[in-house]
Amino acid sequence: MKKDKLKIGIYELTGCAGDALLILDCEDELINIFHAADIRSFLMAKSDNIDGELDVALVEGSVSTERDLQELLDIRKRSKVLVAIGLCATAGGNQAAFLDPREWEDNLKKVYGRTEMTHTKPLQSKPLNAYVKVDHYLPGCPIDREQFLSTLTRLLAGHPPELHRFPVCVECKWRENDCLLNRGILCLGPLTAAGCRAVCPSHNLPCVGCWGPAEEANYTAEYQLLMEKGFDREMILRKMSTFSGTAIADFAARIRGVKK
Ligand code: SF4
Ligand code: SF4
Repeated sequence: MKKDKLKIGIYELTGCAGDALLILDCEDELINIFHAADIRSFLMAKSDNIDGELDVALVEGSVSTERDLQELLDIRKRSKVLVAIGLCATAGGNQAAFLDPREWEDNLKKVYGRTEMTHTKPLQSKPLNAYVKVDHYLPGCPIDREQFLSTLTRLLAGHPPELHRFPVCVECKWRENDCLLNRGILCLGPLTAAGCRAVCPSHNLPCVGCWGPAEEANYTAEYQLLMEKGFDREMILRKMSTFSGTAIADFAARIRGVKK
């Protein structure tokens, strides 16, 4: 008996839409993807989008407005499996990095000169799991093409994706690189989710953490190590914060002695 195709939706909340663009850029595989799955919604690729029950929803972007939140809640209600794709969806993105939740109105005023927003209410930017259950996390800024294709293939076959649970340092060691930390270069590999094949340290550049926090990122140990190596406290915190989204907020506030 012929099996029904899985119904898939690809959605973008607040972000740069880089993950949707990467999917669109899978030119050789795109026709096969559209043959293998029933792509119900993909705003960047088609105009006949349908809201309805889904087997799998892939959602990029962070929740940064009331409209994002309502859309996410609706997608979650309609989907059997929800996959957060990209840094903003998995960790909150750069837009969640430095803002104190109590200060978003001041920051909005600094940037736009006024706090009134007419089309939707801004919210402090957060990853998807701050509001709904997320079944799988596909990190990256943007996501990696091979990891995306392997994740989608496994989901279409009814299997959970096989994603790395270790940090960039493991991939860096696989490539037999000399550790940059031993040369006095501030590298965030120990804190960062793997999947990029340690591309930066393999080119003698430090990891700045663009794939977001690794599953068991130990901020305290990395902070202590970098302090022992003589790096400036504020520089360490700023670098650790850039791509950690909301994950580092409590740690950074504790180190800075800010009362929540
Ligand atoms: S260079 Fe960076 S990613 Fe590579 S092992 Fe050292 S800390 Fe980890
Ligand atoms: S900054 Fe780190 S996570 Fe991002 S691509 Fe470079 S090595 Fe990979």
